Amino acid sequence: MGRVALVTGGSRGIGEAISKKLQAEGYTVAATYAGNDEAAAKFTEETGIKTYKWNVGDYESSAAGIAKVEEELGPIEVVVANAGITRDAPFHKMTPQQWQEVIDTNLTGVFNTVHPIWPGMRERKFGRVVVISSINGQKGQFAQVNYAATKAGDLGIIKSLAQEGARAGITANAVCPGYIGTEMVRAIPEKVLNEAIIPQIPVGRLGEPEEIARCVAFLVSDDAGFISGSTISANGAQFFV
Ligand code: NDP
Repeated sequence: MGRVALVTGGSRGIGEAISKKLQAEGYTVAATYAGNDEAAAKFTEETGIKTYKWNVGDYESSAAGIAKVEEELGPIEVVVANAGITRDAPFHKMTPQQWQEVIDTNLTGVFNTVHPIWPGMRERKFGRVVVISSINGQKGQFAQVNYAATKAGDLGIIKSLAQEGARAGITANAVCPGYIGTEMVRAIPEKVLNEAIIPQIPVGRLGEPEEIARCVAFLVSDDAGFISGSTISANGAQFFV
């Protein structure tokens, strides 16, 4: 059995591609999800990867879920905090609820996912933490004050964890995808996608979830042991500074 890897939101979209890639690399993968039982069941049937259901925004549920994964599969040595949501609205229309839901899932969710796993990684003197941030955390985005704040916050988390984990053999890194063809992006009206979004991407296409998964596989590998506190931008040559 390979190292145990936990992928939150690992049954759909980018997370699904990450789970499958890590499985192909020999990891024993646990994939979490929030509520889409049907997608999770289909995913397990196809891959044999075990799924676990909890809300990453809730600390107690996360800690209990992680304890169950470790009991069933062994100590988690690789954690990919991927689960994320959008609740877009221009700032003047954004409700406190839209703000809070995104903070709870995308920012507090990363704390809730990594915090229960961290002490074990420190004791065993090995760990790999990867957070899936976003290009919109690097550059901001219209109607995404909430989302951009969380994704920028995620970069602060990994840079700090990188420093705290360094002497304990733990690396912490982020991947910042540009537009990737998952349900999250396919939900954008086709006209907006074709006329406003794709023309802004120099390579002229959306990214594939597998392209993000390969970045993650590298960052969690032994080869990447000297890389920590870094961000891989995988966005088809979009520049934003
Ligand atoms: P999807 O909407 O396709 O999948 C999201 C996954 O996260 C699902 O498995 C979902 O579970 C899970 N999830 C959502 N909320 C929670 C929660 N509260 N607790 C536990 N699990 C949860 O998203 P993508 O694959 O598109 O995105 C994955 C990550 O990549 C996100 O963090 C996103 O912000 C980031 N990203 C995506 C980009 C894109 O273009 N798609 C671009 C840049 C970043 P369930 O199946 O039960 O709903």
